[in-house]
Amino acid sequence: MFLFIGVFPREREIAVAHIRCDHCHAVAAQHIVESGSRLWVFLVPLFTFGRRYVMLCEHCGWATELSRDAARRAAELAGRSRPSS
Ligand SMILES: [Zn+2]
Repeated sequence: MFLFIGVFPREREIAVAHIRCDHCHAVAAQHIVESGSRLWVFLVPLFTFGRRYVMLCEHCGWATELSRDAARRAAELAGRSRPSS
């Protein structure tokens, strides 16, 4: 019997907020990205674990790690959906 199990990295953009960057101080698009690892069994995604949230500045490329709550607030500020649980 074969059992196909895999863990693959997962990254998705959850919002884009036009706010001031802490690094370059320019008002630019800040991409809020959720990354983690997803468990697959028989080509079916089961769940994602090890989630991290990062805000990437489009102007200078600086990355700032965010807490889940900070990512949710930034997504609400941008008017997009909140990070999934
Ligand atoms: Zn910047």
